[in-house]
Amino acid sequence: MTCPDCDHAAAYHADRERTVVSILGPVRYKRAYYYCRRCGRGMAPFDERAAITQRALTPGAEQLATLAGGVCDSFERGAGLLGEMSGVRLSESTVERTTEDVGRRIEGCLAGGILFGLAVVWKWYADARGRSVAYLTLDATGTRQQGPNGSKAEGRMAYVAGVYNPYPDEYLRPPGKPPPPCLQARYLSGLYSLEELGPLLRRQAAHVGMEHAEVWIALTDGGCGLEEFMRMNFNRVDLVLILDFWHAASYLEELARALHPADEEAALKQAEQWCGLLKREGGATTLAALEQWDWPARQSAGLREQREKVRSYFTNNVHRMEYPEYLAEGWQIGSGVVESACKTVVGQRLKGAGMRWGEEGAHAVCHVRALYRSEKGQWAAFWNRQFTRKTPVQQRM
Ligand SMILES: [Zn+2]
Repeated sequence: MTCPDCDHAAAYHADRERTVVSILGPVRYKRAYYYCRRCGRGMAPFDERAAITQRALTPGAEQLATLAGGVCDSFERGAGLLGEMSGVRLSESTVERTTEDVGRRIEGCLAGGILFGLAVVWKWYADARGRSVAYLTLDATGTRQQGPNGSKAEGRMAYVAGVYNPYPDEYLRPPGKPPPPCLQARYLSGLYSLEELGPLLRRQAAHVGMEHAEVWIALTDGGCGLEEFMRMNFNRVDLVLILDFWHAASYLEELARALHPADEEAALKQAEQWCGLLKREGGATTLAALEQWDWPARQSAGLREQREKVRSYFTNNVHRMEYPEYLAEGWQIGSGVVESACKTVVGQRLKGAGMRWGEEGAHAVCHVRALYRSEKGQWAAFWNRQFTRKTPVQQRM
C-alpha cells in the first residue's frame, strides 16, 4: 500500500491478529499489516475501513457504549448497564473515553458545517391567525467543574439552544391528527461562547426550514446576553422576543416564599395569584401591582432583597412580558420547554449529586446529550453517517 504520510510504498509485512470488542463480545481476527520503513510506521488499513475505534471497539459497540455513557447517570452505571443488557463488558473508563470521543466527533461535524440527516422543512404549526410559527430557545445552565488535580474550580456555564415546533394548544391543532409522541426539537449544547453558538444555531435552524415559517419566536430567560443573541442571529424585523414565562414565574414564587417563609401553603397560594396575574395582565401590570402591594411594615432582609430582584428583572424584561397578547396570538410562552431542555439535555447527566466534570469532558458529553435528546432520527443519522454539508448561513442584515 501507499504510505499516507510520505507517499512511498509501505510493504506488506504479515497477517496480524487483533482482538476488538463487538456487540457480540470480543472478536479475534487477522488482517494485513503494512510497514513504512521511511516513517517507521505500521498500519492496518482494514481497521480504518471497518471503523474500529481507538479503544478497539467495533462501530456497533462504540454506539452502544456511547448510548450507555450518555444516558446513564454516570459512566460507571453506563458500563454496568451495557454489560447487563448486551453482555458487552467494558471498563468505566472505556465507556467514558468512548462517549467523550464521540462527543468531540459530533462537535467536529457541527464546527465543519456538517448536519445530520437530510435537510427538511418542518410542518410548522399555525398560530391563531393562521401564520406558521417557528420557535427558538436558549438558556444557560451551570455545571460543576473539576480543576487540575481534583481541585474545585469555578463552574462553567453550558448553553442549551434549540429550534423547535411545539404542538399547539387544543383549539389550534390540525384536525384528525394524533399528537406527535414527543416534541419536535433539535438541540445544541456545549461550553460555547455565545459568539461560537450563533452560527451553529443558525445552521441548525436552516436545516429544518425555519425560513419557511412566517413568524419567528425566541424564548429565553433574562440571562446575560441571551436576548441580544437572538436579535443578532435571527434579526428579522418582526422577530418576537418572549421572556420565558416559567423563568418569570419562578421569580414570583421566590418572592412569595420570602413573604411567607414559614407558611408553605400561604406562599404557594400567593405565588399562584401573582403568576395568574402575570399571565392574564402581563409584566407591566404585575410590576405595578407589586409596587403598590400592601407589604408588611417590617420586612426581612430576604424579602427586601427578593423584591429588589423581582423589580429589576421585571423592569429589564417588561417589553417581552406581554403574555396576554402572546396567548391571544396562539403563541407558546415557554413554561417548560426551555426549562426542560436545560434539564433533560444537560441537567440530568451533568448535574447529578456530587458530580464534577473536567471542562473538556463536560463539553463533549453536552454534544452527545443534545444529539440524543433531539428529535427522532437525528441520533440514527449521525451513526449512519447520513451527513449534509451546509455552507455557513449568512447573517441577515
Ligand atoms: Zn511513510
